[in-house]
Amino acid sequence: MRNIEVNVGNVVVGKENKIVIQTMCNTSTTDVKNSYNQCIQLAKAGAQIIRLTTQGIREVEALGLLKQKLRRAGVLTPLVADVHFSFKVAIAAAKVADKVRINPGNFAKEEELAKREFANLIEVCKTNSTSIRIGINHGSLGERITAIYGNTPQGMAAIALEWIEMAEKSNFDQIIISLKASNVLVMTEAYKFLYKVMEERGVLYPLHLGVTEAGNGYEGRIKSAVGLATLLKLGIGDTIRVSLTEDPMNEIPVAKFIAKYFEDKSNIDKKYPTNVVYDCLNYQDFILKVSCDYGPLLLEKKIDNFNLSGTILGEDILEKDIQVFKGNLLQASRRKFTKPEYIACPGCGRTLFNLEKVFKEVKKRTSHLAGYNIAVMGCIVNGPGEMADADYGYVGEGRDRVSIYRGKDLIYRSVPQEEAIDKLLELIEQDVRNKVFLPRNG
Ligand code: SF4
Repeated sequence: MRNIEVNVGNVVVGKENKIVIQTMCNTSTTDVKNSYNQCIQLAKAGAQIIRLTTQGIREVEALGLLKQKLRRAGVLTPLVADVHFSFKVAIAAAKVADKVRINPGNFAKEEELAKREFANLIEVCKTNSTSIRIGINHGSLGERITAIYGNTPQGMAAIALEWIEMAEKSNFDQIIISLKASNVLVMTEAYKFLYKVMEERGVLYPLHLGVTEAGNGYEGRIKSAVGLATLLKLGIGDTIRVSLTEDPMNEIPVAKFIAKYFEDKSNIDKKYPTNVVYDCLNYQDFILKVSCDYGPLLLEKKIDNFNLSGTILGEDILEKDIQVFKGNLLQASRRKFTKPEYIACPGCGRTLFNLEKVFKEVKKRTSHLAGYNIAVMGCIVNGPGEMADADYGYVGEGRDRVSIYRGKDLIYRSVPQEEAIDKLLELIEQDVRNKVFLPRNG
């Protein structure tokens, strides 16, 4: 078996190396001052790789300045350019960034051109020692793949394999693959499937794990923990991101906890009794520990339920809090849906409004809609494509305008932000009355 190590700046990913923690800035990349400050904070907190949105040549130039500034300050954390839709930008970014992330789904309409451009990108990466993340997203697989496989984990793995083969044809192995989805079952199945195929081919490329658009609060943390734990327990995964619709600083302790948990082999091999008392230092540790232990068993239907109690610094956790947490865990593991399922991106430099605040408000106003999948996305460029599975979507168009979607259909465009949640609710209520769209999660 060839086990590939990938260099991302001064960080090595894959093979026997420890799980690497990464995150993404939510600043505008052209705002070098604020991006610099956020990178410093994130690096201090433990982010080992930091990604920034790089939508155009201006952002590539800003990324170059940012990198110089960080290096002058002695901060060596590798920077990743997150590029969508443009090989021209990806090629320019490859001369500046330590890694370039591209999404094959963005090029599904011009595949022949994409093949040539990908080969060109690889040559620039070879010259500049830049690695590439082939970042597949469940929401944007392209018509050819979905016509063959549907919008499935197999489709995600198939497109990844095509791009792996293209890289191999160019004799390039500095690639990391991600197969993100907000549905934890789809995400874990996709990675398992690709891992098996890579094993059969005899070459294991590093995998970047993440539950995308996981949302916020305890629900977002639980969802991420279930997805990541299910794979890390199987030895699948080399680098992780916990995507939260919150300040990216909040992602780091969660990712660190999960990575550290699975450095301890006894947590990987654990056999679980169905009645456990957890003694933890704080509530976040409690939910993460239990989610890492029981999430995979629930998701893979090895158990249906379990008895649980816990203490925080010796104080009993209230039974009502345990029951709320278990409800969230059962929903994250896709075993029982008692409230709406939210799909919310973490936001990035493309987000021009207060996504965190809007998402909290949408959650508050739609909490009665159990069974629905509701998306809140930060930008119109990637939002609609990435909110796979959403029954309804609230997608930011810019600073104060919003698009409202039913599934993949744009229903209202350019709604003023202050009216947008009302408009979303009005659409759902009208659909309920007309029996147009019924909740999918039972
Ligand atoms: Fe950024 Fe969200 Fe748009 Fe993705 S969907 S590019 S995270 S704003």
